[in-house]
Amino acid sequence: MNYDVIIVGAGPGGIFASYELVKQNSNLKIAVFEAGHALDKRKCPIDGDKVKSCIKCKSCSIMSGFGGAGAFSDGKYNLTNDFGGTLYEYIGKKEAMDLMQYVDEINITHGGEGTKMYSTAGTSLKKVCMQNKLKLLDASVRHLGTDINYIVLENLYAELKDKVEFHFDTPIEHIEKTDTGYIVKTGDSSFACEKCIVSVGRSGSKWMESVCKELDIPTKSNRVDIGVRVELPAVIFSDLTDELYESKIVYRTEKFEDNVRTFCMNPYGSVVNENTNGIVTVNGHSFENPEMRTDNTNFALLVAKHFSEPFKDSNGYGESIARLSNMLGGGVIVQRFGDLVRGRRSNQKRLSENMVVPTLAATPGDLSLVLPKRILDGIVEMIYALDKIAPGTANDDTLLYGVEVKFYNMEVELDENLESKHKGLYIIGDGSGVTHSLSHASASGVYVARKITEA
Ligand SMILES: Cc1cc2nc3c(=O)[nH]c(=O)nc-3n(C[C@H](O)[C@H](O)[C@H](O)COP(=O)(O)OP(=O)(O)OC[C@H]3O[C@@H](n4cnc5c(N)ncnc54)[C@H](O)[C@@H]3O)c2cc1C
Repeated sequence: MNYDVIIVGAGPGGIFASYELVKQNSNLKIAVFEAGHALDKRKCPIDGDKVKSCIKCKSCSIMSGFGGAGAFSDGKYNLTNDFGGTLYEYIGKKEAMDLMQYVDEINITHGGEGTKMYSTAGTSLKKVCMQNKLKLLDASVRHLGTDINYIVLENLYAELKDKVEFHFDTPIEHIEKTDTGYIVKTGDSSFACEKCIVSVGRSGSKWMESVCKELDIPTKSNRVDIGVRVELPAVIFSDLTDELYESKIVYRTEKFEDNVRTFCMNPYGSVVNENTNGIVTVNGHSFENPEMRTDNTNFALLVAKHFSEPFKDSNGYGESIARLSNMLGGGVIVQRFGDLVRGRRSNQKRLSENMVVPTLAATPGDLSLVLPKRILDGIVEMIYALDKIAPGTANDDTLLYGVEVKFYNMEVELDENLESKHKGLYIIGDGSGVTHSLSHASASGVYVARKITEA
């Protein structure tokens, strides 16, 4: 089969690339190959009853399938160049912001109308943070919520399915360069195309590495973010979350001068498992529908670890730490903040008496046996710093889930078109190492689609 464009991966990067290709040129023959299931077939078996923790499905429905890792995410589209990726370094700050705005408009017209856009512009909370040695980063955030995000994806699929060939449960194994373009291979089948867009996200990170090796595309990698997910009564953080929904706050620790930052804040949300290449870590999300909300807010506290020569395997380092928690807890570990600072493990009894009721069934344990001291000390310092702007954060009953790891895909060498050294082979989204968020990944998809149709 021959196509004009083949897209590997149907996460936000792949979806927005196909959307824009169709919009710019409806005559193009486009195929999308996705390792995971179609949207309506995606279901995580954890039901809190029969299946309480991750059973490591062959294709993780949280991470893979139409919608990618974003399908059951909180649907927070942060419109900013301050975090979420470095797309602006390739395409310029204005273009990056314009594209994120464009993606927002598409989301709104495909089911997201009525959702709220929050902004840090003009907020007095910035001063309050500053007075307490905390830095609030600038952003506007559209919160779709897991429920509306799903509806937007359903609508996008309905619009695209007759114009683009979707092949689900079809992991691409190899990409080969030919004289006229590329051949992608899956099982016994091969498909040819003139242009190929690779958008395989975090779940495709290992595969992406092998493709870069096979095609001799230079890469670099030296960062991993490690930390915990904090869960506390929503009311404690409500001053921040009511006004900003998500606040990205950075704290510089006194002891080591490391930066600790809040990440992925989910007011009235739930903590969830995340399975990356068989390793279970923690994440969170929340619903837009008030009836589906919990009484808790959760967010991650992360410390970035940058490594210098000769060490290259930053993801391997993060994986080893996550493996330790999986080894001790059979998955994710949960600990009361009061137990952590007293140097004792949490147990089922103390957890059942805890004021904050966990939204994820995790194993009570001791995070100090898992996280390196430097990282844990930074997290404890930040919790006390946050306690000053949101009193109650450092309560004994605050829950910490570990570990949360943000694996960064190695950065693939790309030019200003997000094109690799091989003409016609574009690498976008989180799989390229350039983006780490819904808005940046989606924007990168629109960008290459326009580059391809302009050419
Ligand atoms: C629980 C959770 C909550 C999150 N919440 C937010 C949030 O609120 N805001 C935010 O900005 N970000 C959030 N994120 C991150 C966000 O989902 C990602 O940044 C975004 O999805 C990246 O998009 P992508 O298209 O680059 O990759 P992905 O969404 O990861 O999609 C890549 C797709 O490629 C497929 N694939 C991989 N390898 C192959 C192969 N060899 N062949 C075929 N297909 C393949 C995968 O199955 C996957 O479906 C969250 C992530 C998780 C897991």
